[in-house]
Amino acid sequence: MYDYLIVGAGLYGSVFARVMTDSGKKVLVIDKRSHIGGNCYTEQIEGINVHKYGAHIFHTNDEQVWEFVNRYASFNRYTNSPVANYCGELYSLPFNMYTFNKMWGVVTPDEAKAKIEEQRKEAGITDPVNLEQQAISLVGRDIYEKLIKGYTMKQWGRPCDELPPSIIKRLPVRFTFDNNYFNALYQGIPVGGYTKLFERLLSGIEVRLGTDYASVKDEGLASKVVYTGALDEYFDYSLGHLEYRTVRFETEVLDTDNFQGNAVVNYTDSKTPFTRIIEHKFFEFGTQEKTVISCEFSYEWKIGDEPFYPVNDEKNDALHEQYAKLIASDNVLFGGRMADYKYYDMDVTVRRALDAAKKELTGND
Ligand code: UDP
Repeated sequence: MYDYLIVGAGLYGSVFARVMTDSGKKVLVIDKRSHIGGNCYTEQIEGINVHKYGAHIFHTNDEQVWEFVNRYASFNRYTNSPVANYCGELYSLPFNMYTFNKMWGVVTPDEAKAKIEEQRKEAGITDPVNLEQQAISLVGRDIYEKLIKGYTMKQWGRPCDELPPSIIKRLPVRFTFDNNYFNALYQGIPVGGYTKLFERLLSGIEVRLGTDYASVKDEGLASKVVYTGALDEYFDYSLGHLEYRTVRFETEVLDTDNFQGNAVVNYTDSKTPFTRIIEHKFFEFGTQEKTVISCEFSYEWKIGDEPFYPVNDEKNDALHEQYAKLIASDNVLFGGRMADYKYYDMDVTVRRALDAAKKELTGND
């Protein structure tokens, strides 16, 4: 008999398991996949740590979260500075003075702001209600057309005027020459890959891989269950399906030491079928003779696929709320990106797992 059965060996489940174990609780972690780490999982190919489920760059402003993850890994000084490739024209990301200079030839922040304001006025937007309007009012129509419209359409499979403004608000807009993609005090990649970080997080904890929740749920293994999978799946899709995006990766080993000169290059036109190419060695300043790249193709999720991104439009958020109302038992806790149906970054997931564990242990928020 365990105190907790934790369903999912991803970030939320692993952090929760660690804290509870360190507080003397008996914990069992199960995962239906054959490995730990959820979508953060990395695997070595040609001596390079390959992010098997897409790029994961740890960044945070939360000191406690940073201190916590640093107990289980050393983080390198990687700073994400993606490049956008629009039909062969290269632009700096996030949107900053280099981007504005290349797009319009403007040199000063005031000139850039004037250009954006002119394009925002032309579009007649005062109170943005969707991603398209939000993007145009933040960076103007030209940048929207070349760097946002095609990429977003490919990633989400929906036109920008049917998506919520919140998605684009994730990206900084800066009137400086700072190419750091994140507004975060702390940033890096765990040296040796994420899998190592998870091995340390889960050390001494019983983990059963290749184990579906359905196969153990009637065994009464634990007093409490922590479920980190999708909520609609948990309730057997009884109210209908929540929508997700999934990603397919085409990974290749290339006989060159440098394919694209950067870890992340986004293809922002609508014709290129993939959204971005990741060159994994550059996350860890790799000097290997070969390189490994992954092209990311984004699709609508269907049963059997791994869900990656929740589609947080009004319809889906309302359905998720309906599912949340079905949670009747105090003996099951839900958490993480999938159960909460929220586009969480890794640091938010760690923070939420730490808070949930504390609440379990002390009864206080
Ligand atoms: N985005 C874009 N062009 C880019 C990069 C991002 O339009 O070159 C938009 C797109 O809608 C995307 C959102 O910004 O879904 C958030 O991007 P982020 O890099 O945070 O996505 P993630 O890394 O989580 O896939």
